[in-house]
Amino acid sequence: MSRLPVIRNKRVLATSSSSENGQDFAPAQKKTRKDPEPVKPYAASTIIGTRRPAVAATKAPISRPVRQGAATVAAAPSRGLLKQSTASTAPRGGNIKATAAPTGTKAVTGGAVGTKRQAWDLKGKVTDMESKLHNYQTKVKSVNQENEDLKSTMVKSQTRVTDLEKSVAVQRSQISEYEEELQALSGVREELDKVSSEKTSLEKQLSNLEGKYKVMETLRDSQETELQTLKVMLSVQESTLSHLQLTLRDAEEEVRSLGDTVVQQKDELHAGEMERRRLHNAIQELKASNNVGNIRVFCRVRPLAGGGLSQHLQLPATDNKTITLAKTEESHTGKTADTQKNYNFNFDRVFGPQDSQKEVFEEISLLVQSALDGYNVCCFAYGQTGSGKTFTMEGAEYDEARGVIPRAVTQIFRAAEKLGAQGWEFTFTASFVEIYNETLRDLLYTGKASKRPELEIRKSINNEVTITSLTYEKVTNEDQVLGLIMLANRNRSTAQTAQNDRSSRSHSVFQLDIEGANVGRDVKCKSTLCLVDLAGSERLLKSQSQGERFKEMTAINGSLSNLGLVITALANKDIHVPYRNSKLTYLLQGCLGGNSKTLMFVNIAPELDSFGETLSSLRFASKVNDCVIGTASANRK
Ligand code: ADP
Ligand code: MG
Repeated sequence: MSRLPVIRNKRVLATSSSSENGQDFAPAQKKTRKDPEPVKPYAASTIIGTRRPAVAATKAPISRPVRQGAATVAAAPSRGLLKQSTASTAPRGGNIKATAAPTGTKAVTGGAVGTKRQAWDLKGKVTDMESKLHNYQTKVKSVNQENEDLKSTMVKSQTRVTDLEKSVAVQRSQISEYEEELQALSGVREELDKVSSEKTSLEKQLSNLEGKYKVMETLRDSQETELQTLKVMLSVQESTLSHLQLTLRDAEEEVRSLGDTVVQQKDELHAGEMERRRLHNAIQELKASNNVGNIRVFCRVRPLAGGGLSQHLQLPATDNKTITLAKTEESHTGKTADTQKNYNFNFDRVFGPQDSQKEVFEEISLLVQSALDGYNVCCFAYGQTGSGKTFTMEGAEYDEARGVIPRAVTQIFRAAEKLGAQGWEFTFTASFVEIYNETLRDLLYTGKASKRPELEIRKSINNEVTITSLTYEKVTNEDQVLGLIMLANRNRSTAQTAQNDRSSRSHSVFQLDIEGANVGRDVKCKSTLCLVDLAGSERLLKSQSQGERFKEMTAINGSLSNLGLVITALANKDIHVPYRNSKLTYLLQGCLGGNSKTLMFVNIAPELDSFGETLSSLRFASKVNDCVIGTASANRK
């Protein structure tokens, strides 16, 4: 109970020291001290009325002994409220006198003021003074007493403060201990949370696993049942298997006997194939004109630029073996009628302007088949420039217009595939060579122009003709061959830019070497299919041709007429056949000799102004047609 006011007092002190009043307080004190006028002894009430007592009222109880107005001093510390009002009012003005006076000073000063002594009444004045002094002494005593009280109170308070500070320190340390403990506990709590969530997930896992376990158990049960069923089935199948093995043994025996039958039938088939070849050859020999030779001649007349034919050419509708060249000669005298001269020619076949590439090829497909059967086959196109030789041999790229070479290649690859089923294996080698001015040129050459090798014809001991340094390309399908034909055409046209329209003044020779073997039967065959687009057969008057052109013409005429001579010599069975007189016949001797089948196309241009060339072509062709070269035999071992 007694402590509380002290604390409150302290708090009031603290607030006042930091308040405005507090701030006023220090300078006020200084002012009072510096006051130049010393305290005037005239009135105690005035002294009490100055600011000092107010300051003293607030400060005195703690540090300073108070000497002024005891009543004020005594009143001040005892009541907080009063002190405040004193503190607030005291500094403000002189009317403090009025407020302070009634509280206690009035009695002290009242006598002196009220009863003024006469100047002579010194004794009275001394008495007054003595009583005043006594008053003061009493007051000083009481103030001192009070001061002592306050001091002891302060000591007590200080002890109390120290105690409290100690207890605060103790409590603080306790608080920090608690805080630490709390922190530790919060860590524990987190851990607890974690553990509990882990526990939940583990529980979930456990229940999952339990479920799975149950499923597995069911599965195991069902599989056990299945296993039992399978065991039963297995035993059933084992018995079936042993039964089937018996059946298999029977079947194997049957297969063996069937295999024997197959072998027997293959033998029969092979014999049949050989018989087919013999008959095939016999048919061709019968087909050859007059049944006397192996050179066959086909005549082909190309259409006029606008279609159809001109009148000087007649192809009888009933007969596809005859062609008539008609010439009307005017009477020299004018007295007789104009005479018409007809030249009739017979060939193995005459094709008119309407006959398609396909129809033409059908007629020679038997010959191409012979090449696979082991016969050398040679096919020429003869005629003046522009008569359709290249069209007949090569044709155009699109299907309908394809010529003899691509069609022959197609047929050969297809037939070879069929024969493959009977044990035949074939290899095909293609080459393409040009003969210009009696020089050979490799049309499949792909190297540098400057390094083009010189080609030479060589004859081996067994009379096989080969060309040194020539490109011999192994081919296995039609597309490859078509690619080679395109390459040859490119090679020809590059040469053509140097010497205008060279293709019509050179022979081009496509050769396909065919080697076949029936390994199981030890049968082999070897042959060459030779397809030749000859140089233009037109003859120029010697006066018209000069220089290079003259040289070309001589070479062409030489080789073509030598071709005629070779054929005639072969027909006449001459001992000497002039093969070596030209590169063309030397190269083709294997295909022209007795052991070959030869076909010549004579191509005719239908224009009237080609009459002369047409006549000479037809004459040359019929001379060839009359030749009998003997019967060809297949190259078999
Ligand atoms: P050559 O090779 O004898 O000089 P081409 O084969 O180049 O002659 O033929 C000359 C022209 O006549 C070419 O434009 C060709 O397409 C055309 N031609 C040749 N024969 C026939 C034919 N039977 N049907 C249609 N056009 C043809
Ligand atoms: Mg041509």
